[in-house]
Amino acid sequence: MQTNYPTLFQPLDLGFTQLKNRIIMGSMHTGLEEEKNGFDKLAHFYEERAKGGVGLIITGGISPNFKGRLTPNASQLSFRWQLNKYKKLTERVSQYNCKMCLQLLHAGRYAYHPFNVAPSAIKSPISPFKPKALSDKQIRKTIKQFAHSAKLAQKSGFSGVEVMGSEGYFINQFLAPRTNKRKDNWGGTIENRSRLAIEIVKAIRQQVGDEFIIIFRISLADLVEDGMTWDDVNYLASALTQAGVTIFNSGIGWHEARVPTIVTSVPKAAFVYATEKLKKISTIPVVATNRINMPDVAENILASGQADLICMARPFLADPEWVNKAENNEEAAINTCIGCNQACLDNVFKGLRASCLVNPFACHETEYHLGRVDKPKNLAVVGAGPAGLAFSCYAAQKGHHVTLFDANSEIGGQFNYAKQIPGKDEFNQTLRYFNHTLKKYGVTLVLNTYVKEENLSGFDEIVIATGIKPRKLNIPGIEQPHVLSYLDVLRDHKPVGQNVAIIGAGGIAFDVAEYLVISTNAQQQNQAHWYNEWGVNTALDTAGGIKNRIKPTPVRKIHLLQRSDFKVGKNLGKTTGWVHRASLKNHQVSLIKNVVYMKITDKQLHISIDTKDQVIDVDNIIVCAGQESDNELYRALLNKNYKVHCIGGSAEALELDAQKAIKAAARLAIQL
Ligand code: FAD
Ligand code: NAP
Ligand code: SF4
Repeated sequence: MQTNYPTLFQPLDLGFTQLKNRIIMGSMHTGLEEEKNGFDKLAHFYEERAKGGVGLIITGGISPNFKGRLTPNASQLSFRWQLNKYKKLTERVSQYNCKMCLQLLHAGRYAYHPFNVAPSAIKSPISPFKPKALSDKQIRKTIKQFAHSAKLAQKSGFSGVEVMGSEGYFINQFLAPRTNKRKDNWGGTIENRSRLAIEIVKAIRQQVGDEFIIIFRISLADLVEDGMTWDDVNYLASALTQAGVTIFNSGIGWHEARVPTIVTSVPKAAFVYATEKLKKISTIPVVATNRINMPDVAENILASGQADLICMARPFLADPEWVNKAENNEEAAINTCIGCNQACLDNVFKGLRASCLVNPFACHETEYHLGRVDKPKNLAVVGAGPAGLAFSCYAAQKGHHVTLFDANSEIGGQFNYAKQIPGKDEFNQTLRYFNHTLKKYGVTLVLNTYVKEENLSGFDEIVIATGIKPRKLNIPGIEQPHVLSYLDVLRDHKPVGQNVAIIGAGGIAFDVAEYLVISTNAQQQNQAHWYNEWGVNTALDTAGGIKNRIKPTPVRKIHLLQRSDFKVGKNLGKTTGWVHRASLKNHQVSLIKNVVYMKITDKQLHISIDTKDQVIDVDNIIVCAGQESDNELYRALLNKNYKVHCIGGSAEALELDAQKAIKAAARLAIQL
């Protein structure tokens, strides 16, 4: 059978070695690196992805010395006694004709400990620790340490290393005038600022010989003020090629940049313009990255000559078999990464192990086993939201006979509202995946059926996944017709006026606000608008590739209110909350805390803030004040001694999200 993605599956000949296809699994820190026996688990994690067909895997960042560690206990490769640990990874992966590179990452001033070092003693906005400026002697020692680590990586069976030269880490800190204020041979002109990067590559090449891959992750758009110019990038690329780099990977944006680069709302392949510009001047292969999650997008980039390879990271958490599925034209079976960061990056930033919202098995390969059942049961599942869908798919995959009911005419539960939010259309992909998987494993789907006890006779066991009901409030005047719930807006599409107050400021309230300020304005939804709004200069003719932001004209006046006195939006995702807050501020939405709701009249919401009474003029009030479990059916069945289980929102509404709903489904499916 011919693949639909011929360019993606062309081998790449590097002279001394060949990559079997054009797909790279990018570097991801999983948290397993630092766990006790974590490398055994990590070996399984990588093996599944290698078995899934990827051509080259890059490990999470490993420091070449102590001071370069991102956190005090982060991984480092500097000693021969460590080789066996790293060999565990390469031995597993190499069985599948998959190459593996170790990423060498020195955090510089981003390191989260008091021993951090940098070109100049300038504190970064994302670490509380001010770095010490390195002396000339210390810089030369660091270069040797990079080369030593690369040599050890070679001895451990890696096919190469990736030198992390972007995202605002150590090497990038030397490259950009923003962080390099040195007056010696390591600062000032681009020749001096790039000396560290070039000397590291030369030293590595000298240690490892010609037949070893050196990928350099080059920062194509720093997306910060006083970043590199394109002339700097041009000089650097040419000098690094001469120094012995094999492949350029694209680095986009420093971690401290105020431009989102990977979250769901970033348009697909939004930064390929920068890779394409490098490709035009590069004599070695270049890799495109960022917001590429499906094979058609990847194939288009390669077929149109914008890049030679594609690098994806999170899509391999979501689906270890992404590559084999793409090659066999089973794209409908791909469990697509939705760019939410909820279970991967947000976990890592909290010091927890990474996993995936749509695939809770990720990074738990040795601990969670679905298995197959000898004696299949006849299971009824009530509710086709994320919890019921995931459970049905897992249980049917195990061999159970599953009938899935929903009162609605389509599957998805609340995902059907989430998918309408601007920048969240990826939720459609999850629903496409579930639809495909239900069919694949023969789940009987019964829609348009509001299930009562009498529908459930004859099943061995019942799983209730009936979700939630929006919380009802009893503010005086709440019953008036201009007071809507988020379901009135997102499900029933009731008209909403120009002046709006939203009660509640959680995830759903933020989404509703974005829906009301963005989705009604079609012009605001195109890619050019996104670049303007975030100040991204695709012409790359300014330092850092940024320009002044263009504030959108607000289409509505919105007040977002909460009773709590903490910062509005504080509880949103660790790595995504700032994007939502910045987006609403850009659309001039007022974020108001410390509110006491007094009463609602015809055209006004009466509130008090710090004991001062205030009135907000409104056409509509939208209640997004959290949710309560819809578990009446569950309790009724329990009382009648049915063998019944409850998962997702119907089990616990507090702090419910799709990650928890799907994880609960997986846990129950493993047990049954
Ligand atoms: P639900 O999704 O509520 O599904 C319950 C299903 O049960 C429904 O389809 C309902 O029709 C059906 N049902 C109920 N009673 C019966 C019955 N008696 N008979 C038959 N069928 C019945 N979460 C995140 O993690 N990340 C996000 O970015 C995110 N964004 C969101 C954006 C919006 C606008 C909304 C509304 C929610 C968002 N969520 C998000 C929350 C997430 O969608 C929910 O946590 C998740 O859907 C809960 O899943 P569930 O399966 O428990 O319940
Ligand atoms: P939520 O995040 O718990 O927010 C509920 C909001 O309602 C809070 O701001 C709360 O603020 C307010 N509230 C609670 N009780 C109230 C009351 N009695 N009267 C007035 N206000 C009240 O819940 P949600 O927004 O409904 O979201 C549901 C789940 O979906 C959450 O777990 C959320 O994480 C998830 N979700 C996630 C995303 C995402 O992007 N990751 C997006 C949407 C939804 P005060 O108590 O301070 O008033
Ligand atoms: Fe992608 Fe979200 Fe899974 Fe992370 S948690 S891999 S962003 S789907």
